[in-house]
Amino acid sequence: MKVGILTIGNELTSGKTQDTNSSYIARELVQRGWQMAGTLSVGDDDEAIKDGLDYILSRADAVIVTGGLGPTVDDITTAAIARAYNRKLFTDEATLNHIKERFERAKLNWTNNNAKQAEFPEGAEVIPNPAGTAAGFALKVGDKLITVIPGVPMEARRMLTEGVIPVLIKAFPEEPHHLERRIIKTFGLAEAAVDQKVADIDLASLGVGIGFYPNFPEIQVVLTIRDADEAKAKKNLKQAEDQVVSRLKDHIFGYDQDTLEGVCAALLTEKKRTLAVAESLTGGFLTDRLTDIPGSSVYLERGVVTYSNASKTDLLGVPAEIINEFGAVSAETARLMAEGVRKLGKTDIGISTTGIAGPTGGTEKKPVGTVFIALADKDKTYCRQYGYRWDRRRIKMITTQALLLMLKRYLTGELTDE
Ligand code: AMP
Ligand code: MG
Repeated sequence: MKVGILTIGNELTSGKTQDTNSSYIARELVQRGWQMAGTLSVGDDDEAIKDGLDYILSRADAVIVTGGLGPTVDDITTAAIARAYNRKLFTDEATLNHIKERFERAKLNWTNNNAKQAEFPEGAEVIPNPAGTAAGFALKVGDKLITVIPGVPMEARRMLTEGVIPVLIKAFPEEPHHLERRIIKTFGLAEAAVDQKVADIDLASLGVGIGFYPNFPEIQVVLTIRDADEAKAKKNLKQAEDQVVSRLKDHIFGYDQDTLEGVCAALLTEKKRTLAVAESLTGGFLTDRLTDIPGSSVYLERGVVTYSNASKTDLLGVPAEIINEFGAVSAETARLMAEGVRKLGKTDIGISTTGIAGPTGGTEKKPVGTVFIALADKDKTYCRQYGYRWDRRRIKMITTQALLLMLKRYLTGELTDE
């Protein structure tokens, strides 16, 4: 089945409101294995709505419409659809009562224009709105299906899942099939490089599709397969995954719902190691990510933000002479920060970040984006230098990612001296 999306509202076509409904709905439908015919936004305009529906339905079996179901005169979606397909309007008593009850409960005065929200084109099946007054509907037109839900994103999302998708499944029963998916999460390679590394794997003969989704700072590789035979789908997907993993192995940090901080948390917990964090350029971002994981107190002893030179000396014991000689952004300082915070926290591991996030403060020898990260245990200190080309926020973000990856490699015994 092919589905299109029509979002309606002057606020969308004028750019005042971003059309988040389209992307949300598209993602949900694609995830179910349905094909998308396209997405279109039009204003609250009779002709535009009719033309938009014609266009989408010339390319799709069904259309999901959002917006324009409010009680005011500018919301005309229902009337426009009724006119476009020569349907009269009828009042749905159950919906009318539902709206009146909501008004009573909220102690709002009833005005007659609100009854408009209980009107639907003849032949429509009402899709209830559990979260608001604007009910939606489904209308069969020939062999096509039009479904309509409100524009308010929270209501639209809930009604998509609870109302629209079940109606679509009923109207277009599918051959039974299994949809299997595996998300492989990578960091450290550009999208084009990831693509190139796996380009010659013959996934087509396994019936496996591949997609690349940058989700800064990671690149996700998504493998999907649809097959009536569940065992075959699983087997082929596994074969495809093994080949892709063997090409990307050093750059993979997790699968499916994994996050890098979650992976590190699981390893720290499993290996019973404790951690102290000293952050300069990341300003607490790294500790924030680590504390996103429930139970982080088991391994995280402390995180300190040592931004000034003096704080690096006072709190971490980095000698002022070292900072003067090599700079606050240097391998020497990063190492001593990691060692210092480890001693301070009496932990197994200490980690640190220092760098120049920009846009100012760069020098020829140390341009903006110069970053040092370090990890110290009782025997040894590891340090890495990077040169990033992003803006300030992304340099901070990518530094936390690089350090978490370093921590993961350390915990799995994969971290080498250089
Ligand atoms: P409506 O259903 O047209 O009365 O829209 C109700 C509210 O939802 C308005 O405040 C809109 O800004 C918002 N809205 C409508 N359509 C969309 C959309 N496609 N994406 C995000 N928000 C929307
Ligand atoms: Mg509107």
